[in-house]
Amino acid sequence: MISLSLAEITRIVGGQQHDIPDDGLQVTGPVVTDSRQVRPGGLFVAIAGDRVDGHEFAAGAVATGAAAVLATRPVGVPAIVVDDVVAALGALARAVVGRLGATVVGLTGSAGKTSTKDLIAQLLQRQGPTVWPEGNLNNEIGLPLTALRAESSTRHLVLEMGARGVGHIRYLAELTPPTIGVVLNVGTAHIGEFGGRERIAEAKGELVEALPAASDGGIAVLNADDPYVRAMASRTKARTVLFGEDPEAAIRAENVRLTETGRPAFTLHTPSGCSDVTMRLYGEHHVSNALAAAAVAHELGMPADEIATALSEAGTLSRWRMEVTERADGVTVVNDAYNANPESMRAALRALVAMGAAAKAKGGRTWAVLGEMAELGEDSLAEHDAVGRLVVRLNVSKLVAVGGREAAWLDMGAKNEGSWGEESVHVSDARAAVDLLRSELRPGDVVLVKASRSVGLERVAAALLDGD
Ligand code: ATP
Ligand code: MG
Repeated sequence: MISLSLAEITRIVGGQQHDIPDDGLQVTGPVVTDSRQVRPGGLFVAIAGDRVDGHEFAAGAVATGAAAVLATRPVGVPAIVVDDVVAALGALARAVVGRLGATVVGLTGSAGKTSTKDLIAQLLQRQGPTVWPEGNLNNEIGLPLTALRAESSTRHLVLEMGARGVGHIRYLAELTPPTIGVVLNVGTAHIGEFGGRERIAEAKGELVEALPAASDGGIAVLNADDPYVRAMASRTKARTVLFGEDPEAAIRAENVRLTETGRPAFTLHTPSGCSDVTMRLYGEHHVSNALAAAAVAHELGMPADEIATALSEAGTLSRWRMEVTERADGVTVVNDAYNANPESMRAALRALVAMGAAAKAKGGRTWAVLGEMAELGEDSLAEHDAVGRLVVRLNVSKLVAVGGREAAWLDMGAKNEGSWGEESVHVSDARAAVDLLRSELRPGDVVLVKASRSVGLERVAAALLDGD
């Protein structure tokens, strides 16, 4: 982070100093909420959570070398005390980003934010120092923490913006005003919580409303293939750049296909040229993510062939997203247990089928080990039933549905679609799934593991890989 004195920080957050002997002391970062990540010269932010209260770790943080603590009450060690720590953290991020010369890229969408953020970061890093969140830091705490990692040399700051409701993205965009705003899709993720797709579109669109006008360099990067996203062009003063497979998209994929290893390949079209891409990432949903990243890189001056090379080399930086591991005995485990929604279930199943085609020819089988897609509200039964049916239609060899009612719907969909009997099994939990798979898997089999975050199916993938 850029260096700030305790006096400056106090002024920025409108706080009161307690137990600070010298407010000329410089804070050089990092700014952290986890006391285990404290480093000398850093700032520890004490957040009172449901289970633990950060204030209890304040003394330890200072003992480790934190210059001070940002807190809601005096803690007996140097502290800047404010009413609302999260708001203060946001104010600090806003002040710091305002002093940087970095281009801020904000991105949102129902699915693919973290994957696309990782792609954008890998592209932009080629052009200059780039800061982006590790993993999924996309809310009112994670976003400022990430922004505060930027230095005066930072050229690009890539930020994921998540929304659990209307107004959230507006708030995040005020903290770190983006010049480039990317909206990936308006899917059904978190639909139960929001109350409908229009409401989700309303919330995601706040990002493009926050962009500067075209004359001030604002650029809205919008998915041409998603009507809800495309319609956001009317909500922004920024210049619109469309990406997608739609012929009107400036950044376009043609000849999209899955290679026999299950990786997506396509020809990237940009206004400055075309180039072929074969991704290292699995799942055709990444084509859309790659185009969004390509659009950002193109706008920042990267030539098409360099974008294509970077996209072909880009790996996954965040865990449990289509992580493919082959075991010594020839069983391949595809861990996509980070999360699931109907769109990503379909994409992952198609990737499984493409990866399994070669295996199947040699007698191997494809297994879909699936759990609940959460937060679907009243669509839940129909969506689970549809995924169960799709498993059969795609000729996946076996379905293991893991969990309660939703898993029963997956199993039911499969059994109702075809003449499936034993090919589809419903088990109550991850342990039972592991026991079943351990006794059934044969060399050459390919196993996809996927469900919503709350199901925790990564335990199945871990058990299959580590044998614990
Ligand atoms: P979160 O809301 O948890 O932050 P996210 O938007 O950051 O999620 P990712 O973590 O990138 O999304 O991916 C979440 C899930 O969505 C993964 O299972 C992934 O396979 C799937 N996914 C990724 N990109 C897309 C896409 N463009 N369309 C549909 N599903 C996608
Ligand atoms: Mg995310």
